[in-house]
Amino acid sequence: MNVLGNNKVENAVIQPVTNLLGMDRKSLQDFFVARGEAPYRALQILKWIHNRGIADFNLMTDISKNLRASLQGNCIIQAPEVHSEHVASDGTRKWLIAVPGGSLIETVFIPEKKRGTLCISSQVGCSLNCTFCSTARQGFQRNLSAAEIIGQLWVARDRLRTVTDSPLCTEITNVVMMGMGEPLLNFDAVAVALSIMRDELGYALPRRRVTVSTSGLVPAIDRLAAECDVSLAVSLHAPTNDLRNVLVPINKKYPIEELLAACRRYVSNNKRYFITMEYVMLQGVNDSIEHAKRLVKILRSVPSKVNLIPFNPFPNAPYQCSDEETILDFANVLSDHDIVCTTRKTRGDDIDAACGQLVGKVLDRTTRSERYKQQEGAI
Ligand code: SAH
Repeated sequence: MNVLGNNKVENAVIQPVTNLLGMDRKSLQDFFVARGEAPYRALQILKWIHNRGIADFNLMTDISKNLRASLQGNCIIQAPEVHSEHVASDGTRKWLIAVPGGSLIETVFIPEKKRGTLCISSQVGCSLNCTFCSTARQGFQRNLSAAEIIGQLWVARDRLRTVTDSPLCTEITNVVMMGMGEPLLNFDAVAVALSIMRDELGYALPRRRVTVSTSGLVPAIDRLAAECDVSLAVSLHAPTNDLRNVLVPINKKYPIEELLAACRRYVSNNKRYFITMEYVMLQGVNDSIEHAKRLVKILRSVPSKVNLIPFNPFPNAPYQCSDEETILDFANVLSDHDIVCTTRKTRGDDIDAACGQLVGKVLDRTTRSERYKQQEGAI
């Protein structure tokens, strides 16, 4: 009852509008069942939104007019807004995406002849302080919602449909969660987005083509193994704890031995699975033959492939990239010991779209230390 002695005002509280874009099969089924509808409506909607890329309820012809009208009145299908698009000389595309509150996040499409990889952000900024990554310099604002994460894929595919003159692939065949942020610190929203990527009525991407990259949050790696069927990449970057403590400070909490044990558990139920170990090449820091030999030793017990990443510089970075010969020598030590090793080609660096150059624009960091504490609770 309000002060006027009636309860009409309370009853008139407007329900928040549901954005169907960020709902996977399970949450859509729960949504429709709660509304007294058949669960298969979820499958129809999932297919319209993600498989066919349709956001207009009027075009959803296998759904009754009544239900369409009701959805129209209560729900939205809203993708994040593209602030700007940048195309690099090598065909790499970067979209700056505006999220509510004025911040910008980055999504990058890296086309090859037969493969198109979309690099997606999971947070506005990042709360981990990896010393070689420019996103870390931006601080952390907030987690992205499931709609904002899967929305990057939705928007990118929509944009790529208009590209007709490229000699390179314009389809998204692979997704990597390697943009801004630490995906495993935003687990729930990332898990929903991953489920839509993998769903045959969503984007139908096979397991090996959806990769989550983590700085090494051990409990969350176990949770990922239990709840999501995707590939895992680990930002290793150093073969000893002393060095990794400096480059990837979360190592102080989850040292290399614990991290590698989690990696073994991750692949333990399938012999064909392996972990991609990311290793950024920093001149004079982690790139010697000794480092390579030590890396061989620690990786003996983990089915893994190593991906060497030439360091991408950014203003006032405390590191330089190893020279080509050093990278080659390092790679040779690994291959001589039967470790599959690839060197990542730097792509899109003329538009600052390369690994570790994604900064977006992170606003409202006044309570950054507060938020960092909240995040720490989740680590
Ligand atoms: N937080 C996640 C995902 C984001 S970083 C993670 O740590 O894995 C994605 C990849 O880019 C990681 O392997 C990261 O170590 C690498 N990276 C970050 N900064 C870089 C830089 N300046 N040059 C090259 N690679 C970088």
